[in-house]
Amino acid sequence: MKKVAVIGAGTMGNGIAHVFAMKGHEVMLVDVSEEALSRALQTIRRNLDRMIKKELITPQEKSDTLHRIATFTELEPAVRDVALVVEAASERIDLKLRIFEQLDALAPADAILASNTSSISITRIAAATQRPQQVIGMHFMNPVPVMKLVEVIRGYLTSDATTQTIMDWASQLGKTPVEVNDYPGFVANRILMPMINEAIYALYEGVAGVEEIDTVMKLGMAHPMGPLHLADFIGLDVCLAILQVLHDGFGHPKYAPCPLLVNMVTAGKLGVKTGEGFYKYHPESKAKEISPRFAR
Ligand code: NAD
Repeated sequence: MKKVAVIGAGTMGNGIAHVFAMKGHEVMLVDVSEEALSRALQTIRRNLDRMIKKELITPQEKSDTLHRIATFTELEPAVRDVALVVEAASERIDLKLRIFEQLDALAPADAILASNTSSISITRIAAATQRPQQVIGMHFMNPVPVMKLVEVIRGYLTSDATTQTIMDWASQLGKTPVEVNDYPGFVANRILMPMINEAIYALYEGVAGVEEIDTVMKLGMAHPMGPLHLADFIGLDVCLAILQVLHDGFGHPKYAPCPLLVNMVTAGKLGVKTGEGFYKYHPESKAKEISPRFAR
């Protein structure tokens, strides 16, 4: 079993730490925010309890998993002797470039540096390091402990050996890795985000209400969750950031983010993580209702 560092303890970081620790790896979970770290541990604990209830793991496995996770607010010493780093910090290019520059200086020379970015160019992130052949995209899906897919993104200079190692790591975690090339949005978000954006446009233009749009897509297309609910779940700030990358990267107006999405992000209505987006969420239960803003 190897040591892994996970950078960023938000929605994705806690899930990534959870799955690596469950498979026996020692995990260094790093976030600049103490509060994010304690929230992440709380979420992991709650998710492990849910797995005990479903008889998927034993209480002993829960306690072993939690013991394998250590938290840090700085990269040093967290990444000092790890084999793999998975960066899952906020979706901002300036931030990711700075983190990768630091990781390159602090992590062992043979460590692989992976990013969980939803859309930012792996080739560009790799260029911030002296080891672009060891930089790769390892794009987990939300919620990480449940979703099977890992999109493995080869940057322009990512080596075959790095790609194979990450495909193997993902399989060992019980996931199904799919190899794709490095173009804006890769495959998952290039297809998903225009659909979410179009759903927001349909709401913005008054074609239908929140519930109607989500119901059409759930019952009509057999999607497990409507696109507006899914956008809340992903985080509206993350959706906006991805659309901006698609828009900049392809220069095509079809990727222009809907003005309603821009307004909601500016107003701090980011979805589940802030308690309100297209829906309003009740903190302790799973209950949700249409946001009063969109109630008809
Ligand atoms: P989030 O906002 O929930 O969490 C980001 C965390 O990064 C925060 O806790 C923040 O404090 C931390 N952070 C910021 N700067 C940092 C730094 N310098 N060092 C360490 N931590 C730092 O975001 P998220 O939804 O978990 O997204 C994280 C990454 O995963 C993004 O690149 C996003 O595109 C990608 N992603 C998100 C989803 C999703 O459904 N939310 C799905 C797949 C991939």
